[in-house]
Amino acid sequence: MARRPDLGWAGAGVLIAMAAVSLSEAATLRDVTPVRAQPAATTRSAPGRPVRPSHAPPAALGTAAPTEEAIVPPGRPSVRVPILMYHYIRVNPDPRDKLGFNLSVTPSDFGRQMDWLAENGYHPIDFGDLRAYLLGHGSLPSKPIVLTFDDGYRDMYTTAFPILRAHHFKGVAYIVSGFVNSPNNVSAEQVLEMDANGIEIGVHTVSHADLTRISAGDLHREVYDSKAGLEALLGHPVHDFCYPSGRFNAAVVGVVQAAGFETATTTEPGVVHSAGDRFTWTRVRVSGGESLEQLVGDLGQPEPTQLVSRAQPVATPRTGLARLPVTFPLRPPPEALVAAIPG
Ligand SMILES: [Zn+2]
Repeated sequence: MARRPDLGWAGAGVLIAMAAVSLSEAATLRDVTPVRAQPAATTRSAPGRPVRPSHAPPAALGTAAPTEEAIVPPGRPSVRVPILMYHYIRVNPDPRDKLGFNLSVTPSDFGRQMDWLAENGYHPIDFGDLRAYLLGHGSLPSKPIVLTFDDGYRDMYTTAFPILRAHHFKGVAYIVSGFVNSPNNVSAEQVLEMDANGIEIGVHTVSHADLTRISAGDLHREVYDSKAGLEALLGHPVHDFCYPSGRFNAAVVGVVQAAGFETATTTEPGVVHSAGDRFTWTRVRVSGGESLEQLVGDLGQPEPTQLVSRAQPVATPRTGLARLPVTFPLRPPPEALVAAIPG
C-alpha cells in the first residue's frame, strides 16, 4: 500500500484520534438503523452517461444482467468529489445588491441542478462518508458529490431542504452559531430538524469573522465557542468547519485542528480531496446565474468506478458518537492509516 500524501499540519495524535472516532463509528454501523436518506447506488439511470468503466467486461448478450453496482472502491488515497458551495437559495430581492446576487441561486435553478444530478447518477454524500472513505472504511457510491450551504440562511430550511428531501439527497449546512434564531437565519428548531433528516451540520464560526484579521483570543472563541454551541444544541459532536469568506492561514488552520475538527473547507476551486489536505478542501462555487452547462463543466470528470456484483454498504457515520453505541473490540486501523502516521 503506497504511503498517503504528506499529512501537512496533521499530527499523529490528531490522526489517531480521528481514526479512533471513525473506527468506533464504523464498527457500529451494521448495528444501527440509518436515520438519514441513503442514496440507492443502483437504481438511478444515467441516460447517455453509462457508468460502466471502459475496462469492465461487457455483459454477455442474451443473458439477464447480473445485479451490479458501480462504486468507488476502497483504498484510493485521493478522490474526485466535487464539494458544491451554495449560499442563498432565493430570488435576490434587491437587484442593486451585487454581492447578494452573486450568492443567490434561484429556487428553480437549484431544482434543475438537483434534477440533473439525480438524472445523471450523482450521489450526494456528506463529510462523514468522505472522512470514513479516506480512512479506509468501505466504498463510495458512484459519482459522489457533497452539497454544502454556507451561513445558515433561513432559505436553507424553507427552500433548499425540501428540494433536497424530494430528491433523497444529503447535504451539509455550515451554521454561524451566533446567527441562529435571527430573522434571516435558521432557528434552533430548524437546525435540529435538518440534522435529523439528512443534513449534516457543520460549523462556520460564531460571527462570520475574517479569522485572519482578529486577535488570537477572538480566533479561539470564534472556533471553539461555535463548535461547543452547536454541539450543545445538537447533542452530538460536529466535525466539519468552513472558513468564513474562505479566509485562512496557518495559524487559523492550527486552531481549527486543535479544536477537534476533522475537516475544513475553503473557497478555493478544485474537486480532488485527500486526508492529507482535509483542512483546506477546495470547493466548486455555485454563484447563481450560471448555465447548467457551466456548472456541469465545473464538476469535471467523475471519479472512475468499478462494478461489483452486489451492493456494499457505504460507510456512513451519521449523527455522531452521542447517538451511536460503541461496540468492542474495535478493529485495528487499516494499514494505509498506520503507514501514514509519521515516525
Ligand atoms: Zn460564509
